[in-house]
Amino acid sequence: MIYADNAATTKMSEAAFNTMTSVMNEIWGNPSSLYAHGQKAKDVLENSREEIARLIGADPREIVFTSGGSEADNQAILSAAETGRKKGKTHIVSSAFEHHAVLHTLQRLEKEGFSVTLLDVHENGIVLPEEVEAAVREDTCLVTIMYANNEIGTIQPIKEIGEICRKKSVIFHTDAVQAIGHIPVNVKDDNIDMLSASAHKFHGPKGVGFLYVRKGISLTNLIEGGAQERGYRAGTENVPGIAAMATALKESISKTDENRCRLAAARDRLIEGLRQIPHSALNGDAENRLPGNVNFCFEGIEGESLLLLLDDKGICASSGSACTSGSLDPSHVLLAIGRVHDVAHGSMRLSLGEDITEEQVDYIIKSVKEVVDHLRGFSPIWRDLISGKRKFIL
Ligand SMILES: *Cc1c(COP(=O)(O)O)cnc(C)c1O
Repeated sequence: MIYADNAATTKMSEAAFNTMTSVMNEIWGNPSSLYAHGQKAKDVLENSREEIARLIGADPREIVFTSGGSEADNQAILSAAETGRKKGKTHIVSSAFEHHAVLHTLQRLEKEGFSVTLLDVHENGIVLPEEVEAAVREDTCLVTIMYANNEIGTIQPIKEIGEICRKKSVIFHTDAVQAIGHIPVNVKDDNIDMLSASAHKFHGPKGVGFLYVRKGISLTNLIEGGAQERGYRAGTENVPGIAAMATALKESISKTDENRCRLAAARDRLIEGLRQIPHSALNGDAENRLPGNVNFCFEGIEGESLLLLLDDKGICASSGSACTSGSLDPSHVLLAIGRVHDVAHGSMRLSLGEDITEEQVDYIIKSVKEVVDHLRGFSPIWRDLISGKRKFIL
């Protein structure tokens, strides 16, 4: 099997797995308990917090552990909205291709009277800092722009956007779930006020993540209960998961540069190979792109069928046009970069892992070519395209 869906989730690293199981086995106390066995768990928790903080340029008191990226996004956005509401500031700036954890939270706030400006991400899938600047108003309480997009992998000019927000005294949150552990991220250098991360996207376990909140920015808790996480997140901490997350992050960051070069070379080889398929196109900027992300559109085919046939060939890929909620709507990300419905439907995301080999890349290219040819062979849309009844877009 070739697993090329690392943007959906990653395999836990051996080191993270070992940390997790040994904490589960040996240090299973409750970190809120006062006896030594509980305090050992507390030490694991606080050492993990220190490690994670150090790795992203933060202070340990600026890290709040959550159940993952979605919770961190919700908490960041709802907190900034709460702070804004108290000051009569109810406008939020974001982008059209955010993750649904952000978009759906913003939709909820709209129902509560907030107004939201979703910035264009243009054909290349990148938000322009000057457009952020122009969109920020007197009543803006938050700018939330993702660090790197989960479908097309484009990396945003976060530092510049952060600088604008600092200048305008607006809180800046970034969903960095796809970036952390894959490209260098430093909250201080990047002028970030709040940042969301999730362990299972960097070879840690599922169901654990964190929110970075810069000192001085107030936070509202989503879950009421005990005083864990300094009152910002009730519930007994997932100590084994948090410890494994710290191990996974340390490992990923220590290998970032080395992995980035190797992965980017594999990615570019794959892009070059897929470009040979007629009437196909890469989605999103080729340069400002996560090292493992390849996202293509093929005219005249159905993305879903492509994935199923690739699965038969042992390749795990994902559809850009995820019919996630059972709807047939194509991906909001592909629509945001200006792909029309028909073309967006014929899309595919391959997110490579660090262990990918050249041979595997070549096998993927060969397989995708075969499958696309095969599907076009009996596609009515393709027939119309080649007979001239319908015009090619790509
Ligand atoms: C995966 C992902 C999330 C959600 O993270 P979970 O830990 O699965 O809740 C949020 N944002 C982006 C960009 C993601 O890729």
